[in-house]
Amino acid sequence: MNPEILRRLRERAAGCCEYCWLPTGGHALPFQVDHIIAKQHGGADNLDNFAYACVHCNCYKGPNVAGIDPDTNMVVRLYHPRLDRWTDHFRWSGPLILPVSAIGRATVRTLNMNDPESVMLRESLEQERNRR
Ligand SMILES: [Zn+2]
Repeated sequence: MNPEILRRLRERAAGCCEYCWLPTGGHALPFQVDHIIAKQHGGADNLDNFAYACVHCNCYKGPNVAGIDPDTNMVVRLYHPRLDRWTDHFRWSGPLILPVSAIGRATVRTLNMNDPESVMLRESLEQERNRR
């Protein structure tokens, strides 16, 4: 990915993953450009369709545009960083991201947002912040 595009995305996202809010540098691996609507589904190669994403979120999201809501077993579209407001679909409970909508539930599940490693990482970043 063009470094200038990545820089613009990072700026727009205030330096955090647009899905899990992990700050840049939270992972050893560099952040990536996510196609919100994957190219195989007709998604465009432009800033409106790009999200700034950590490796974890981008890997689990892959080309998915929908997931299964674990409460209803219905197919639900995933959270869309350009169209949706994060707080309409998720809230924090300590290091856990709790879904508050069907879109939130499908996204938390598909992106595996509360896997033990991610939760531990958020806890250690929080402890680091508190030490400063
Ligand atoms: Zn993330």
